[in-house]
Amino acid sequence: MALILKKKLKPAVKQVYESPTGQVFDGISMAKDMTMICLEGGIDALPSHNKQEGDSTDAVENILSTANNTSQQEAALCYVEHFKWSVFPLHWIDDNGCCSCNDNECKSQGKHPLVKWGNEATTDHDQITQWWSKWPKANIGIATGAKSGLVVLDVDVDSGGEASLNKLLDQYGPLPETIRVKTGSGGEHIYFKHPGGKVGNSASKVGAGLDIRGDGGYVVAPPSNHLKGNYQWK
Ligand SMILES: [Zn+2]
Repeated sequence: MALILKKKLKPAVKQVYESPTGQVFDGISMAKDMTMICLEGGIDALPSHNKQEGDSTDAVENILSTANNTSQQEAALCYVEHFKWSVFPLHWIDDNGCCSCNDNECKSQGKHPLVKWGNEATTDHDQITQWWSKWPKANIGIATGAKSGLVVLDVDVDSGGEASLNKLLDQYGPLPETIRVKTGSGGEHIYFKHPGGKVGNSASKVGAGLDIRGDGGYVVAPPSNHLKGNYQWK
């Protein structure tokens, strides 16, 4: 059965999973998500980044370091201006330590949307200014997938993501260099260029504690706050 499946899927696998260096991944289950996101990285992980003459990895680092240390509104505008990522406001953790939705049993504290983000995530300067004028403390959501040209690997340390990732790295070699976020809970978001086609979302499918945020997904971005600490670019 496995063989038949492999044979049947091979042309598609070859097309999608052949790396720029010609390395072909013919494993189906795990390699699927991993190799897709490994195709390109580095500064090129930012497809919408308007590369100007003289722009370099240093320029990106400066932008991200600014985003770490500014207001939510300025950071949101910064992502739009420099990377053309679509953003939208999320609930936040209030000074009393509770989610701004005021539900004591909120299951997604400081992480759930304040707007119908599926349609409303935007790169529009005025809309962003309007949202954060209304909710200055709102955390920042970035829509992943083709909309922002991004796929993000979410490494959840509490669910064993680090061990799962290390196992994959041993097996497949290192990930390309790219930008990374330390999440509020101490995990990591690793950003990659969207490879084209459709990249779905998955939770613990690539490995325990490894989630893929692709088309129709979103991530919480720095300098958003969290119960255990702020999101920060590394
Ligand atoms: Zn809430």
